[in-house]
Amino acid sequence: MSWDFETDDDYAKELAWVDDFVREEIVPVDQVVKHAWDLRDPVRQALIPPLQERVRERGLWACHLGPNLGGPGYGQVKLALLNECLGRTHSGPIVFGCHAPDSGNSEILAHYGTPELKERYLEPLLRNEIVSAYSMTEPRGGSDPTGFTTSAVLDGDEWVINGEKWFSSHANFASFLILLAVTDPEEQRHRRLSMFVVPADTPGIEIVRNVGVYGHPEGEGTHSYVRYHDVRVPADHLLGGRGDGFVVAQTRLGGGRIHHAMRTVGLVRHALEQMCERVLSRSTQGELLARKQLVQAMIADSWVELEQFRLLVLRTAWKIDRYNDYQKVRGDISAVKIAMPKVLHDVAARAVQLHGSLGVSHEMPFASMVLESFHMGLADGATEVHKVTLAREVLKAHSGTDDLFPTQHLPKLREDAERRFAAVLRPSVGT
Ligand SMILES: Cc1cc2nc3c(=O)[nH]c(=O)nc-3n(C[C@H](O)[C@H](O)[C@H](O)COP(=O)(O)OP(=O)(O)OC[C@H]3O[C@@H](n4cnc5c(N)ncnc54)[C@H](O)[C@@H]3O)c2cc1C
Repeated sequence: MSWDFETDDDYAKELAWVDDFVREEIVPVDQVVKHAWDLRDPVRQALIPPLQERVRERGLWACHLGPNLGGPGYGQVKLALLNECLGRTHSGPIVFGCHAPDSGNSEILAHYGTPELKERYLEPLLRNEIVSAYSMTEPRGGSDPTGFTTSAVLDGDEWVINGEKWFSSHANFASFLILLAVTDPEEQRHRRLSMFVVPADTPGIEIVRNVGVYGHPEGEGTHSYVRYHDVRVPADHLLGGRGDGFVVAQTRLGGGRIHHAMRTVGLVRHALEQMCERVLSRSTQGELLARKQLVQAMIADSWVELEQFRLLVLRTAWKIDRYNDYQKVRGDISAVKIAMPKVLHDVAARAVQLHGSLGVSHEMPFASMVLESFHMGLADGATEVHKVTLAREVLKAHSGTDDLFPTQHLPKLREDAERRFAAVLRPSVGT
């Protein structure tokens, strides 16, 4: 029997170090680095690599990876606890080398790349000497990949790519893109797509614009609208087999989704901590806000929602470690993905409300957290799509009945029980 909610002493010490390091070193860096993924920014390059070095020395670099790829191989539960510490910051994940989308892209390259691709892209990616992008969503819609039209056609020993992709985050900073394209249009719906590595300096790649999102600093955004015009990549830049695009995508999406959720636990906790501080500091009508019962309800609801979400995330992480098979935890990951935007939205919205005018201002992060909750409900699949996945998984464990009434219809249960216990019941039935 093992059913444990405790962190072992050694790892608890590491987490305490991480928590201090995040608060003392990373939070200040976040105030001055505009985008931690922008390796061309001299301020970023002066401040982030020294912190990354300290993380490496501590043995906490790339905790999502096993020792074969330079990580400690802690597994998902320990990673979850670490990511909770990092989630309150923008730069934390990149300082610890476990940032999206490179974390997922490195998993794809590790699984499916040739030795040459690994040497050229994976190794510098793992050292954060380069960054990458994931180019899947198309401007006509991302929720249904079977409708994608960007094509890759084999011409001799090269693939020729044509089409448009939308919201390829960080393509403007990337050295390569992992791209999903139609290679086999005549095949059945889930066998039409294949995955590629596309070097960012390949002729024919046009970044139409970098789209910004509300809540992030104004100016040019980081979600690239990318056109591919006769982009030629060598045949060995295909990842997995022809038509394996969906399978390869799952290699990154399962992990990517749960890692976002781990960080979101940290972000929600950050909002709750600030709410508690505020209501214990501000008075109205002669008493602290914390003494008002309607305020207490907000604190209590936020705590319950956070802890429920956290347990779901940790249990899913534990299942990933146990089964080592994302297919087996598909429903769990969808459940986490469904819960994530709601808990972030609801707690951040209460933080806005309890901070009053300050809460809606640019001077606190809560309004941008509310918007961030919509990102969480879209990136890596819309909530509605995950509800469909979860419902399907749940229903697999159940079946219908041919009876006119449900199997648990109370008159039937009673009738069965009376038959079974007739000997005991007979005297009283007779009276
Ligand atoms: C911050 C952020 C970062 C992103 N980064 C990347 C990235 O790096 N690479 C990348 O390729 N993509 C990225 N995306 C895109 C993301 O994957 C898509 O937004 C997502 O797949 C939804 O596609 P869409 O935006 O085209 O919305 P649509 O597909 O047009 O869907 C719009 C809405 O329709 C509804 N809907 C859709 N399908 C169903 C359904 N089956 N049942 C009921 N309702 C439904 C939902 O409400 C959904 O939100 C990012 C998105 C965000 C917000």
